[in-house]
Amino acid sequence: MQVTPDGGVPIVSPRATPDPEGKQNILGLDRAELKAAIADIGVPEKQVRMRVSQVWHWVYHRGVSSFDDMLNVSKDVRAKLAEHFIIKRPEIVEAQYSEDGTRKYLIRFADGNEAETVYIPEEDRGTLCISSQVGCTLNCKFCHTGTMKLVRNLTAAEIVAQLMIARDDLGEWENPTEGRRVTNIVMMGMGEPLYNFDNVKKALEIVMDEEGIQLSRRRITLSTSGVVPHMERCGKEIGVNLAVSLHAVNDPVRTDIMPINKKYNLDQVLTACANYPGAHNARRITFEYAMLKGVNDSDKDARDLVRLIRKYKLPAKVNLIPFNPWPGTAYECSDWDQIQRFSDIVYEGGISAPIRTPRGRDIMAACGQLKSASEKKSKAELAREAAAIAALEGAAPHHTSTGLT
Ligand code: SAH
Ligand code: SF4
Repeated sequence: MQVTPDGGVPIVSPRATPDPEGKQNILGLDRAELKAAIADIGVPEKQVRMRVSQVWHWVYHRGVSSFDDMLNVSKDVRAKLAEHFIIKRPEIVEAQYSEDGTRKYLIRFADGNEAETVYIPEEDRGTLCISSQVGCTLNCKFCHTGTMKLVRNLTAAEIVAQLMIARDDLGEWENPTEGRRVTNIVMMGMGEPLYNFDNVKKALEIVMDEEGIQLSRRRITLSTSGVVPHMERCGKEIGVNLAVSLHAVNDPVRTDIMPINKKYNLDQVLTACANYPGAHNARRITFEYAMLKGVNDSDKDARDLVRLIRKYKLPAKVNLIPFNPWPGTAYECSDWDQIQRFSDIVYEGGISAPIRTPRGRDIMAACGQLKSASEKKSKAELAREAAAIAALEGAAPHHTSTGLT
């Protein structure tokens, strides 16, 4: 496997897979790309700007997927657009609805890879948790996604499409401004967003565009496991809120549970937090801290956490996440009393430390539980199953379905 200059795994971004009819999918193009595409098909030059604006509005503000619906675009231009382009979402393989209202979408991209997206409704907001990669290279020991073997970066189009699909399912396009159900976005799904910086940046720019989906940067949070070289860029170039997966207050424990700590240790991560552009008391950095029984949850850990945040003078709050279990994990969630004590100690130190209520555990949609179904079985297992089915049917082996089991 190839490695990037900062040691991160690189991962090739696939080029857009062409539609069987050879038409280009315009979903996920940014303004400059859309402009070039529209100019390319022979729309008269003096119309191009207006057409870009119109198409952009229909695609990203109204959510249409047919050029016929673009009523203010002249018929001949609509026909030209339809001749060359499509507006196509990836396929939802399965949508699961939790008892608590959480929705999880398993999405299959054109090359057959899959990722998950989660919608979490709360009283005052609706948060969409978006994936940035298929799988994750970082192998944090407590995280289900980290056990996936297959990894690739998602394209900007595939990242934006997750939001489009959720809005389709939630019926949000009819009233895009007042009827908003996805009010916030967190880049907290599968993958390490800062290892896919360019695509994540491009996708979030599309999402924030004022003539399209119009989500404010204040309502977007990007979570990183601490990819130090890209943290400053994230603040400067994207300008969204930052969350950092801390999970331990000293290097030995952090290195044990998060191998990336060998590359960027606590001191480097916390220094990058202290320098994060745009962080101040009204816009604090969030530290995520999964409560792992007997690993990082002692009273001393809580006091050390306060000490660290003070030492680096961080405008920070802590989100305590009760560990979400998954099949085969070696960890247990801390006892409830201990989570409460930990939270109290941090609060007494003057730092906000709410305990995050687990959401969507019944459908394996909570933090750290995401892992697409096709990865749950090894290739050998899939091949064995395919052969068994073929034998039963007396036919040649064929592809096995990758739907959730
Ligand atoms: N890769 C990024 C984005 C994932 S965000 C990152 O690590 O920051 C999801 C959050 O859930 C992270 O803080 C992650 O560390 C945490 N997490 C992972 N597995 C978990 C689990 N099983 N229980 C609770 N939190 C978990
Ligand atoms: Fe990757 Fe984040 Fe999971 Fe670690 S916690 S394996 S960085 S998704």
